[in-house]
Amino acid sequence: MSKQPDFDAVVIGAGITGMYQLYKLREQGFRVKGIEGAPDVGGAWFWNRYPGCRVDSESHTYSYYWSEELKRKFNWTERFAGQPEVLSYLQMAAGVMDIRKDYLFNQRVRTATWDNENQFYTIQLEEGGSAPITTRFLFSAMGPLSAPQMPNVPGVHTFEGDWWHTGRWPRDPDSNAGAKIDFTGKRVAVVGTGASGVQVIQEMSKVAKDLYVFQRSPNWCCPLGNAPVSQEEMDGIKANYEQLNDFCNTTMSGFPHKWIDRDTLDVPADEREAKYEELYKGPGFSLWLGNYRDYLENPDANAVVTEFVKKKIRQRVNDPVIAEKLTPRDHGYGTRRVPQETKYFECYNQDNVHLIDLRDTPMTSVEPKGIRTSDGQLYEVDVIVYATGFYAIRGSLSRIEVYGKDGRSLNQVWRDEGVKTYLGLMVDGFPNFFTLVGPQNGTVFCNIPRCSADAINWHDGVLRHAKDHHVKVIEAKPEAQEEWNDLCVEKLSHGLIGKVSSWFTGVNKNVAGAQKREVLFYAGGAPQWRELCDEIQADNWRGFLFDGQPASKVSEPA
Ligand code: NAP
Repeated sequence: MSKQPDFDAVVIGAGITGMYQLYKLREQGFRVKGIEGAPDVGGAWFWNRYPGCRVDSESHTYSYYWSEELKRKFNWTERFAGQPEVLSYLQMAAGVMDIRKDYLFNQRVRTATWDNENQFYTIQLEEGGSAPITTRFLFSAMGPLSAPQMPNVPGVHTFEGDWWHTGRWPRDPDSNAGAKIDFTGKRVAVVGTGASGVQVIQEMSKVAKDLYVFQRSPNWCCPLGNAPVSQEEMDGIKANYEQLNDFCNTTMSGFPHKWIDRDTLDVPADEREAKYEELYKGPGFSLWLGNYRDYLENPDANAVVTEFVKKKIRQRVNDPVIAEKLTPRDHGYGTRRVPQETKYFECYNQDNVHLIDLRDTPMTSVEPKGIRTSDGQLYEVDVIVYATGFYAIRGSLSRIEVYGKDGRSLNQVWRDEGVKTYLGLMVDGFPNFFTLVGPQNGTVFCNIPRCSADAINWHDGVLRHAKDHHVKVIEAKPEAQEEWNDLCVEKLSHGLIGKVSSWFTGVNKNVAGAQKREVLFYAGGAPQWRELCDEIQADNWRGFLFDGQPASKVSEPA
């Protein structure tokens, strides 16, 4: 007689995705438990409290579109909300879902081991945690950008001043913001110029006595276009939520920006330039995701918009040598995640801001007094901010061990065979384990709350099917996984993004074994991913096995 697990379902993570996943499972009558490393909900928005942190999706789209109560209750005050406001929203959402009661906070999963005999997972928490927890179904909702990564230079821990990673910023005990740290008059180093670095540099440049920016790769940053949202505007958004939602569901990545239905080079140069100007000044990802439809596929088209953004950098930075250093050379516009900025380039016109180009003089060590570069220079500072990003997409999964049917861990399998999944939701050999916002999912290159909700709603259907038919074990078929992998490879091969090293393609120079590009997201876009999932459902959950049988062979509901 097999043992019964403690829970029907365990969700790892209490960020945007985990909270909704747990809520849906509970709504379906499952006995649920959530496990979260932080003391409260919020995920990325709980940890990333660095100065200047804000969202670059339009605030009202960065939300649980399915909740009428939240839509009615919450008023966004900025077009692109600051981190404390996003966290307040998620806290309110946690209240609406009454989610906290089902979470264990301050606990991290160390291992989850599939028990072939009893058909459940046994979860061991990290040291200091409680007794093992058993669960029939396991959901990883740990986020694609939640495993902070320090630079792989010697001496990081020898620095005598204050230092923080942007993704683990100290908290203010009395508010949702970061700790009240006064950087006025300080010598500050910021390492990294991705989306986090750009935001923190903008803020530090206002107060630091000297700000040293250690830049390895410049990015094609573009204006964010932030503005306050008046009550009147908010009322308008509320009145139109339905239409806004429908529109976002038609766009590639779930944002309110849609490709222009023309090819770049078919458009007369004057007209194109005027359109680029308009998009450059437009909000959020207007230029990135509202551009001509071919520019992320056709290198000639890409070269045109790249030249436009290059010109903008030259116009905004007074010193042409600095402007050149701030201009990417190794990738075209839009082929890596575009950091959104507010007067970022103008910071470099200030006397207190110093750019250190690590392509000329790489960082060789961190020392007690500061950062040393290959030319022997020591930059003495009081504070170091590491904006060096995350081991993205698979990083959070890589920091736990999930053991499957044959006793091998997921990390081992992916090391041996490369990353492969079915729909980005399941992995062959790991029954009842669902990976949300993980590799090869439609959510990774997408507005997370919207697209992770798609995946969760879809899980809802699979699990309902399993429950109605008293199925204990759901698995992905190996051949379905191969097909999905081939499709992901094929989709990515059409575009330029797959030909560039970035976190989208799994490259992290600080992580051993993450130097080669991988196919880590489904590049067909959110609407296509949604359609495919629906089609698979309509085709009797093609590619899945229920207690070892295709759905068509599973008996009718009892
Ligand atoms: P990131 O984009 O990966 O940027 C990390 C930066 O650190 C890069 O400039 C990288 O240079 C540099 N770096 C890493 N290791 C280094 C080393 N050893 N020496 C010198 N420089 C090093 O990380 P992120 O800025 O935290 O952003 C990650 C993602 O989070 C974003 O793309 C975005 O999706 C999300 N995010 C969103 C927002 C928002 O909504 N506004 C804000 C922040 C982050 P290389 O490029 O040369 O590796």
